[in-house]
Amino acid sequence: MVSDTPPETPIDVSHIDIEGLAKGLNPSQESAFRFDAGAALVLAGAGSGKTTVLIRRIARLLAEGVPAKRILVATFTRRAADDMADRLLALVGPEVLDGIWIGTFHSHALRIVKREWADLYGKEGKFEIADDYWQERAVRAILGRSGVNDKLPSPPYCQNIKMDRKTALLAVSACKNMGKYAEEAETALAYLYPDWEKPAIVDTARFWRCYEMAKTKEYDLLSKVPCKRLDFDDLLLECWMLLRENASIRTKYEVAFDHILVDETQDTSDVQWEIARAFARRNGNLFLVGDVGQSIYGFRGCDPRRTVMAFRKAFPNGEIHRLPANYRAHETLVVLANELIAHADLDERYRLEMQPVRKAGPAPEVTRHVDQDSEAAHVVRSLVDRRQNNALDYRDIAILYRTNAYSRGIEDALIACGVPYHITGGTSFYNRKEVRDMISYLQLTVDPHCPAGTEAAKRLLNVASKRHAARTRSLGQGFVKQVEELAVRKQWSFYEALCRGGFTTAQDIAVKDFRDQLKEIKSSGVTAQVRIMAARQTGYDLYVELEDGDLEDDGEGSSRMENLDELIKFASRFHSVEAFLSFCGGQLRKFGESARAMDAVQIMTIHKSKGLEWRLVHVIGFAFLILPHHRCLRYIDGECTADSFDEERRVAYVAVTRAKEWLVMSWPTYHNDKALGPSPFLTEMPTIATQVNEAMAKQLEPETDPNEFDDLIDAEALALEFDIDDGSTL
Ligand code: ATP
Ligand code: MG
Repeated sequence: MVSDTPPETPIDVSHIDIEGLAKGLNPSQESAFRFDAGAALVLAGAGSGKTTVLIRRIARLLAEGVPAKRILVATFTRRAADDMADRLLALVGPEVLDGIWIGTFHSHALRIVKREWADLYGKEGKFEIADDYWQERAVRAILGRSGVNDKLPSPPYCQNIKMDRKTALLAVSACKNMGKYAEEAETALAYLYPDWEKPAIVDTARFWRCYEMAKTKEYDLLSKVPCKRLDFDDLLLECWMLLRENASIRTKYEVAFDHILVDETQDTSDVQWEIARAFARRNGNLFLVGDVGQSIYGFRGCDPRRTVMAFRKAFPNGEIHRLPANYRAHETLVVLANELIAHADLDERYRLEMQPVRKAGPAPEVTRHVDQDSEAAHVVRSLVDRRQNNALDYRDIAILYRTNAYSRGIEDALIACGVPYHITGGTSFYNRKEVRDMISYLQLTVDPHCPAGTEAAKRLLNVASKRHAARTRSLGQGFVKQVEELAVRKQWSFYEALCRGGFTTAQDIAVKDFRDQLKEIKSSGVTAQVRIMAARQTGYDLYVELEDGDLEDDGEGSSRMENLDELIKFASRFHSVEAFLSFCGGQLRKFGESARAMDAVQIMTIHKSKGLEWRLVHVIGFAFLILPHHRCLRYIDGECTADSFDEERRVAYVAVTRAKEWLVMSWPTYHNDKALGPSPFLTEMPTIATQVNEAMAKQLEPETDPNEFDDLIDAEALALEFDIDDGSTL
């Protein structure tokens, strides 16, 4: 057959030195780097050069003349993909790299489904992404009570299911990641959640079917232009379906790529695994790297037992390469990590003990503090000292925690000491939606007429329902605009315009409810703590549970209620609402300044730290029920399931393997009014037995008098202006 496409001019690759790329690699790394053709699985512990070898191997393939567009690389996050592209760019230059497929499985699937559906169905193949915003509204309408959304057909909407929005979505997503469809909802859910009662399974299955229906064009009634919707899991499912069911599309992609490479394979889902295998079916060149000890996305339905650990069965002729040498950390830290992961229930064939390359270094430290704030103060002081004594940059330092609510203490301490920090994959505690909602309630009880009061009122009118769900729904964006116009016309404050009323009867009733709620909050007491508790009791908690969803978006275990609990606890330290508001405003402003700093300490959840490394790592909140996290432990008949406990251990393993030189682990004796013991994972590492025992015997006393800190806060509060310069509103 004569091809119409003109022959391509070969790209000059003579500047890439293959031997140079192999330089410095040890023999096992080099053998993976030079691996020629077929399926290979590179297994190695954390920091043994998996990603390094993968990147150099791609450069080698390019240097040998494989066109970039015939290489597909799948990474776990977009950030990892960008990082990889940058490193490759430095190795081979932009011309050679042009056209390479580097991205997450989702981005590849989007590209393929978009293209193929357009070819297959023309205009009918058009779809929109069911993004967070769409999902939020749709799921709210599905779970909601009938009568609330009168205009929406039931089903799919108005199902009156008492379920947290995020929990519902996460469960459905986890099943879809396993390649399951709504038709088999009950069995899939029962398999994935053996600890759930039958009614929960039935409700979630009903939710799932309605959710799928809501994504069809016919029922996409929440959008101005109804359209077929695909969520991120659908992209993968549809991509897999195209490759499985359509022979010509399958052939097209089978011949399109010569090499498929996947990083962090231990956290690929069943569907991603099938897609990768489908791409490589013809040429067989599938290069996978991973560490089963670091699989931490079981809650999304990923299970290495069905993917990486099924490698032998899937590829009987495939090669397994092991990279035992660890380059990231010094011997002491490598031994410690080996001790921890030795407790994991891993298939011996996939377990690998790491061998240190670097000689022993500074002993890991373990400390115990009275509470989260004295822990944070100590951490920041010690990192400042260590930075000075060892010529570290701030960017060489990371502080890791299990869930987002734990960032509050450390953020306050960093700000108090003037240490710039960046939050990877998250936002400041004070900038989180539920925290800002609470601050808005407080503002309205103090001064509803000032500019901050106006912003607060606008914000809360948009927080759909509180206790009077049906009525306050009428106070959305359109209403806010109406009040705004009235205020300008009459030269009233926004709140005054709101109170003077004269709107429709439904709106007037809703405004009265809103004002009654504010009155109730104000009359509950004079402190911020009491008023926040009142705001939660008068409906906000219900709103979070039913409409906004308790879990944060990433599903890693962070929770909105936990953030609110943290806020209440912290608010108890302020004598007046005004001082508390000023403090929060100041923290937000300083966070904005910090975010602009070039050199900053990195703070993030452990999940976000996967694949990264720093010279100094602090793991904070290393206590039982925080790490392992109580919400992520699952129980059957009162017994904690081994799987859920094991996954938390792997999270701890990811945390301790991020450090190159110094590792410091700490925990608070008291947190949220509970006495906490050390994490059981700490006692699984004999290397730090002495440090753990010493910490258990002796709590480090706060270096400053806590009352002094309170005074500081109040003094600071008075000095601060209540202005927020990040363009956001309180
Ligand atoms: P993780 O499991 O955390 O993703 P990894 O196995 O992908 O880790 P890399 O991030 O590739 O490990 O490498 C860890 C560190 O070791 C990096 O700083 C890398 O530059 C270094 N390294 C890897 N191989 C070598 C080598 N042969 N010589 C010197 N340093 C190396
Ligand atoms: Mg890596």
